[in-house]
Amino acid sequence: MADLTDLGVAAIRDGVAAGTFSALEIAEAFNANVAAASALNAFIIATPEKALEAAKATDARRAKGEALGLMGGVPIGMKDLFATKGVQTTAASHILEGFVPEYESTVSQKLWDAGAGMLGKLNLDQFAMGSSNETSYFGNVISPWRRADGGNAAMAPGGSSGGSSTAVSARLAPAATGTDTGGSIRQPAAFTGISGIKPTYGRCSRWGIVAFASSLDQAGPMARDVRDCAIMLEAMAGFDPKDATSLEMAVPQWEAGLNPDMKGKRVGVPREYRMDGMDADVAASWDQGIAWLRDAGAEIVEVSLPHTKYALPAYYIIAPAEASSNLARYDGVRYGLRDLPDGAGLQDMYAATRAAGFGAEVKRRILIGTYVLSAGFYDAYYTQAQKVRTLISRDFAQAFEQCDVILAPTAPTAAFGLGDKSDDPLAMYLNDVFAVPASLAGLPAMSVPAGLNREGLPLGLQIIGRPFDEQGVLNAGLAIEARAGFAHRPAKWW
Ligand code: GLN
Repeated sequence: MADLTDLGVAAIRDGVAAGTFSALEIAEAFNANVAAASALNAFIIATPEKALEAAKATDARRAKGEALGLMGGVPIGMKDLFATKGVQTTAASHILEGFVPEYESTVSQKLWDAGAGMLGKLNLDQFAMGSSNETSYFGNVISPWRRADGGNAAMAPGGSSGGSSTAVSARLAPAATGTDTGGSIRQPAAFTGISGIKPTYGRCSRWGIVAFASSLDQAGPMARDVRDCAIMLEAMAGFDPKDATSLEMAVPQWEAGLNPDMKGKRVGVPREYRMDGMDADVAASWDQGIAWLRDAGAEIVEVSLPHTKYALPAYYIIAPAEASSNLARYDGVRYGLRDLPDGAGLQDMYAATRAAGFGAEVKRRILIGTYVLSAGFYDAYYTQAQKVRTLISRDFAQAFEQCDVILAPTAPTAAFGLGDKSDDPLAMYLNDVFAVPASLAGLPAMSVPAGLNREGLPLGLQIIGRPFDEQGVLNAGLAIEARAGFAHRPAKWW
């Protein structure tokens, strides 16, 4: 039989149900790949025993003729931002090192209830702040991809879900959870040639996910293809009374609703996303995507999102503002690290713990956030950014009067090398330019692989939909996927 780790979510689920292979064989195969890939540093900790335990439970259910669930027999990677009961949860920060939650996040619990098993906790940018996975306390994740033109420069897997993107593209997991505050599912998916969807804000419960910017944070799946994303999102989504911003709506049957026929659909191409000096390969891939959707039967219309240029600055005020508030809870008393210098008082302990526990990027965000929320600057920055956020939502609402989905690049470039941007926060932030507008507006948005650039690195196309229209986004993604025929994978070097 072909290598079991070449199988995705649907193929594993169906094969386990049909008895073609057992869930245990699948879990063993992926556990072996995880164990052999330490050079990628995708996992903070591996939990092979959890994957085996879930697989055995699935096999036992099958033997008894019981239903196996949406994710029956599928082992997954769990971004280490989701609290997992009894398993260390760090957000890739020293300040949470050693923190073992007494509770399970709603999303991870739903996945286990659907029959999934856990291969381990995936590395990420610290507190999900970053676009390259270089801010993790546990070291960089190395993308499995390398430039085709020789040179073995280590490439960024994207961020913040860089462990997730690496695990899926390197066949360490058929799928993984991600979270997306300003692109952290879509950009790493684009950088590694996989698919990922951020659903409408509120679709997936935030309960038990380490909070970054609560008005933006959303969980979503990262997987090899659109169908696998649809299946996993169905398992992850749903109303949760424990999250005040959870959507009180039934979860649609996204997999059953998949349909790549775009006849009668209008696809909007936002004028403002075509920026001066745009990367030629990214521009060409966008044009190709437009042609593919036209070929799928869609009508292409130009739309305008006039406030696009303010999205990035607004995001980098709102997200740090919320982060500075959310991260106030890490005080050395309740979680993980405690730094208590000799003879120190409570204030000293707070200061010492936070100084030692947070990485440089996290401190930068806390400083920015505290500044923009401070009495003298609140109106000039925070209030202003909130107004911009409203204008951006309005831009999208107006565009969606003329189109059903919007097509854009996911990121302004393909993956860059580790170290290329880590000294320049602004250059790093600019990488999120196409991702943050949909985040600010709370819209569903997906990245699907479109092809390779001239360096042999993957490029992603982004589809943005109306609120609650994950189906429209997935379907357009499927139409692109069918035409892109993206079968590239990184040559194994690890
Ligand atoms: N790269 C963005 C940031 O650093 C987005 C991160 C995310 O979506 N979690 O804030």
